[in-house]
Amino acid sequence: MPVPILMYHNIDRAPKGVKLRGLYVSPERFRRQMALLHRLGYQGLSMSAALPYIRGEAKGKVVAITFDDGYRDNLENALPVLQHYGFTATCYMVSAALGADNPWDAEALGVHKPLMSETELRQWQAAGMEVGAHSRHHPRLPDLTEADLLNEMTGSRQDLEKLLAVPVTQFCYPYGAAGQREREAAK
Ligand SMILES: [Zn+2]
Repeated sequence: MPVPILMYHNIDRAPKGVKLRGLYVSPERFRRQMALLHRLGYQGLSMSAALPYIRGEAKGKVVAITFDDGYRDNLENALPVLQHYGFTATCYMVSAALGADNPWDAEALGVHKPLMSETELRQWQAAGMEVGAHSRHHPRLPDLTEADLLNEMTGSRQDLEKLLAVPVTQFCYPYGAAGQREREAAK
C-alpha cells in the first residue's frame, strides 16, 4: 500500500484576503486531522522514518508528515499536536532565511510570515522532529547555473548540519521544481 505524504505549509488561521489560501491549515483543523489519523490507527512519521515503508522494506499503517519552509507557526501550533499523538514530522528549512519572513514570496502573497529562528529550530529538533534542507534562498532550481545549484543544495545541507550537529539527509525542491539535473544533484 502506498504511503501517503501529507505536505503542509502554515498551521495558522489564514489572514484576510490572503492569496494561496491552500497553504494554510488552521490549528483546529490540523488537530482534527491528526486525531483522525490516530483514531484510524495511523502513525505519523518524518520522511526519514517513513522511508523504509515507502521503499517497501517495512510494513505498517503510516503516513509521512512534512512542512515546507519552516514557519514559526509549525513550532507553535503543530508541534504540540504531533507530540500529543507521538507522531514525528520533517520540516524543510531555507537555511539562509532562518529568523526571517518568507522573503521569496512575501511580496507576491502580500503577507509576511515569520520563519523559525536558529533557537526555534533547535527546539523543533530537541522535540524529536526532523529537519530537512529546502535550499539556502528558495530559488527555482532549474533556473540556476551549475555552481549556484550546488551552492543552494549542498550549501543548505551544510548550513543545517553545522547548526544542528546531525546529518541532514532529506531535501525538498523549492516550488517542487526539479528536472533530471536537480534530481541527480539531490542524489
Ligand atoms: Zn517552499
